[in-house]
Amino acid sequence: MNTGHILKLAFEDFGFESLYELYRNTYKFTPCGPAVGALVQGIDKEDRWYSCEELRTLPSFMEMAAKGVKVLRLQVGSIVEGLDVECDSVVVELTDPDTFSKNYWAAVDAVNEEACQLWDETHGCPDCFGYGEEEMHPIDPECESCGGFGVVI
Ligand SMILES: [Zn+2]
Repeated sequence: MNTGHILKLAFEDFGFESLYELYRNTYKFTPCGPAVGALVQGIDKEDRWYSCEELRTLPSFMEMAAKGVKVLRLQVGSIVEGLDVECDSVVVELTDPDTFSKNYWAAVDAVNEEACQLWDETHGCPDCFGYGEEEMHPIDPECESCGGFGVVI
């Protein structure tokens, strides 16, 4: 099975036809807005990583299968806005469609959880726990000023 077929089957239930659709939907429906990258063989001379908006330039899953373009692995990661840290990216190897689909969504969950945790630990508003303007402090879930959501830094 070509990796285009594997991807097609893995995401058939969701109706995604390309890596770009996969990325856009993952981004849209996951609170931390994860980044998705793909290591692709068969387009450039050397294997190359395509990420996020760049995925738009890749052919659909079925075109990949027809052209012999191979996706070697995917990577899910996230940058927490306002911080220089990045959560650990999770690599998902192409296997059979079912396992691959499961592993992909597990990676999205893991990255989202870590990103949300980083956000909660650092995006407290001045009233959260009475820290004032002091930089980066945790969010107080009971805070009345920000409602426990924190603020953009
Ligand atoms: Zn607050």
